[in-house]
Amino acid sequence: MTIVFVLILQEVGLNIRRQHSHEGAEVLSRPAVVTVMGHVDHGKTSLLDALRQTSVAAKEAGGITQHLGAFVVGMPSGASITFLDTPGHAAFSAMRARGAAVTDIVVLVVAADDGVMPQTLEAISHAKAANVPIVVAINKCDKPAANPERVKIQLASEGLQLEEMGGDIQVVEVSAVKKTGLDSLEEALLLQADMMDLKARVDGPAQAYVVEARLDKGRGPLATAIVKAGTLVCGQHVVVGREWGRIRAIRDMLGKLTEAAKPAMPVEIEGLKGLPMAGDDIIVVDSEERARMLSEGRRRKAEKDRLRKINEGRTENVEEESEDMPKRVEMPIIVKADVQGTVQAVTDALKTLNSPQVFVNVVHVGVGPISQSDVDLAQACGACIVGFNIKSPPSTVIQVATRANIKIVLHRVIYHLLEDIGNLIVDKAPGTFETRVAGEAEVLNIFELKGRSKSKGDDVKIAGCRVIDGRFTKSSTMRLLRSGEVVFEGSCASLKREKQDVETVGKGNECGLVICDCDDFQVGDVIQCLEQVIRKPKFISSESGAVRIEC
Ligand code: GDP
Repeated sequence: MTIVFVLILQEVGLNIRRQHSHEGAEVLSRPAVVTVMGHVDHGKTSLLDALRQTSVAAKEAGGITQHLGAFVVGMPSGASITFLDTPGHAAFSAMRARGAAVTDIVVLVVAADDGVMPQTLEAISHAKAANVPIVVAINKCDKPAANPERVKIQLASEGLQLEEMGGDIQVVEVSAVKKTGLDSLEEALLLQADMMDLKARVDGPAQAYVVEARLDKGRGPLATAIVKAGTLVCGQHVVVGREWGRIRAIRDMLGKLTEAAKPAMPVEIEGLKGLPMAGDDIIVVDSEERARMLSEGRRRKAEKDRLRKINEGRTENVEEESEDMPKRVEMPIIVKADVQGTVQAVTDALKTLNSPQVFVNVVHVGVGPISQSDVDLAQACGACIVGFNIKSPPSTVIQVATRANIKIVLHRVIYHLLEDIGNLIVDKAPGTFETRVAGEAEVLNIFELKGRSKSKGDDVKIAGCRVIDGRFTKSSTMRLLRSGEVVFEGSCASLKREKQDVETVGKGNECGLVICDCDDFQVGDVIQCLEQVIRKPKFISSESGAVRIEC
């Protein structure tokens, strides 16, 4: 029989139990990752808000929390639960559709006054399809019209085997507004997690997923990631979906820099070359070259798949698309016009707006007014509808389109039509990243601190510099030049002015600079501070009426 020793490790607010078996293999139990689902207005967001206020970040940061896409709630026992901060089954399914099975438990929120509603049933179906256990939170129990017993009967009649009726699904009565029952909900989740005996390998390369991504002006693409297994370490080369990069910084929920991320710990990573998507996987590779190759391979495959799909649905556009098209976003458009000739002319004119970043995909054309079925099709494929030389559609059609957030653009002058669509395209274009030299400094002195490197315990070289142009920002990448040649590029480990840590240093000032993994400074070297900027395409129109999108 295997003898198991359990010792409790408190790691960044997460409870990880380390178990050694006599074979020497190490198994670690990890916190559960939870998604909140339920009908609209039943209180998913309010419940997450209430839980977030009890989170580690809220406690340590005096109630102020940043929206990171996930947060950790620590329990008095030392255990913890990780909540994904995007409620609803759309996000859950989008993640799953991309292969990211991050969620361990679903909290099904049902309003005590409203009871089971259509999206409650959808949420149950999604959780069941994913084989993810449910814990029911009957919310709004503070309301006079609350009737939790009725909700339980409704859920049971939908086939949920509730615990109090002899099944294994726990039900907790809560009020997100009055903040009652939250402890019981957290306890129920811990119990469920315990039953599932969630474990993960902690050592070795990380397998992780993106739960949210955003662009930051100074720091470039940022992704909130949750590690499923292994440990994600600062400095590693990664492929994230179709993007790649080298992890320049890892921040925990408090925004504090940390060297590594362990299973179920939400962290924000910095250093990717492009913006990934929620649900993208994060793979650690051993070199930049490999990361670049893998990401290029994935892009090519995605592009081929996309072209194949277009080919399957509609053959006419494919010939115009070259095999090696760069990554583009698609702009699906439905064209309706008064006569066939105009339909063709408008379609041809719209295609002149094709650009390397946005692909104008005319998914459907037709003669006559915009109908309900055009709106249905637009909704199914996320298209906008262009009407040329036709009457405004009936108000019922407009209402449906407005509710579904479908744009209808009506014009009688082709130039105005192209101007409108051109601007939509520019808005939609992802933009390209450009590296810009934001500041330049010369190295005046070199200082050495013995045994000060946090990661390795060895010596640290500090470059005493003067900023001769622009400004230096701590979150940027630093490039070291010697006689005009680039000799090193890396993230900034420390930026100080007169022994004080600072975020920026302006022109004319002196500063002490440490670059991660760089100990090769020489007096006279030049250091450049690099910033990533996003360049969006522009819609250009000439006086002759010609239009184009310039990237
Ligand atoms: P969501 O659409 O499921 O995210 O629902 P929201 O969290 O936006 O809540 C919808 C409405 O219900 C808001 O007006 C909330 O203030 C209210 N609400 C949410 N939870 C409670 C609760 O526990 N008690 C009461 N009385 N109202 C609540």
